[in-house]
Amino acid sequence: MITSPLKPYPWKADRDGYYGEFGGSYTPEVLHSTLTQLRGAFDEARNDPSFWKLYTDTLATYSCRPTPLTYCANLTRHFGGAKIYLKREDLNQTGAHKANNVMGQGLLVRRMGKTRVIAETGAGQHGVATATMAARFGLRCTIYMGADDVARQYPNVFWMRQLGAEVIPVTEGTRTLKDAMNSCMRDWAETMTDTHYVVGTTCGPHPFPEMVTYFQSIIGSELRQQFLDVEDRLPDRLYACVGGGSNASGMFSAFLEDESVELVGVEAGGQGIGSGRHASRLAGGAGTTGVAQGYKTVFLQDDEGLMKDTYSVAAGLDYTGVGPMFADLYTRGRVRFESATDQEVLEALQLTIRTEGVIPALESAHAFVVAFREAASLSSEKSVVINQSGRGDKDIFIIAEALDDQGWRDYICRQARKYGE
Ligand SMILES: *Cc1c(COP(=O)(O)O)cnc(C)c1O
Repeated sequence: MITSPLKPYPWKADRDGYYGEFGGSYTPEVLHSTLTQLRGAFDEARNDPSFWKLYTDTLATYSCRPTPLTYCANLTRHFGGAKIYLKREDLNQTGAHKANNVMGQGLLVRRMGKTRVIAETGAGQHGVATATMAARFGLRCTIYMGADDVARQYPNVFWMRQLGAEVIPVTEGTRTLKDAMNSCMRDWAETMTDTHYVVGTTCGPHPFPEMVTYFQSIIGSELRQQFLDVEDRLPDRLYACVGGGSNASGMFSAFLEDESVELVGVEAGGQGIGSGRHASRLAGGAGTTGVAQGYKTVFLQDDEGLMKDTYSVAAGLDYTGVGPMFADLYTRGRVRFESATDQEVLEALQLTIRTEGVIPALESAHAFVVAFREAASLSSEKSVVINQSGRGDKDIFIIAEALDDQGWRDYICRQARKYGE
């Protein structure tokens, strides 16, 4: 039970949108006036106390907020070290923390009087979240998705269309996320008077990293209060997976000033950092500083600044850039970065499902891997909290295949035969 009023924990950039040397806004001239307008609207909203109240009320009545803090007695016993807790972002509307960001931006869109939203999506999770918000708020919605991703992630495409969104398959380039991003920017440049671009994570030009963090800070704000209520102290370590960085930014923001709380970000180790098939920009040191996609951060890129192909079993972590605040905090040593391989992720997932009866998303399971790796070496007086950013139901196709489940293979074959005849 949360006893005191929740407050946002803004993780502010400087006036030009920088966190140390990272962040900023590197965009074509045509977008400058829209981004300036958005910064103004966001500033005005966050200075209005009724806006944060409207935001928390909206999520409380639509998206299961506050999400619970779950103590894992069985996992704690299994590892025999620190107490293990989960922050349950999987219980949000559409099954992940993405709901916080899209609902927040939706409220801002209404405030600005715009009537249409656009977004780009890779695996489709952000697309579904955006389409859900648009349906709820009565906004027109267009989602750009690489043509190959449309084919691979059809269940999400189905739901986006059912929710009333127009899904546009992008056939240029590699037919994946980066091409969808370009198409989305092009749309925005032509439609900004009535359209808002719902960026899905703490990346892109200022003010998006700061704005997404602001909305996601509800996670850390609740967690801080919930943990104090239960343990009467602060947790010792927090673990969150880092794709673009939004769930981690939200969890960590409330604890940035508490030096006793160690913050650990976990990136996708894929088939191992040495294999080159991964998406770890900070852990392992493979990333380098560059400017792309409207902002400056650490990217996985070659010597010419061309983005490298990234890989992870978890689609939500499979991205070349990282939130600029994390590039900064990594440089300053405030957040430690680790990585988890696909294989480790599957093992942590199976253990968690069996011992606690919760099914984390593949993305979230990366944070579980590193927490499990470290929990045993901490004393039983210590406590760690893992952000369970999403639920794993969406991953059934990938997990069942990776575990080579015969019953699943038979089921898929029966379905295929049914449609083949
Ligand atoms: C999208 C997603 C992520 C990665 O995004 P961040 O912006 O890094 O939080 C992590 N977990 C889940 C469940 C997701 O859907």
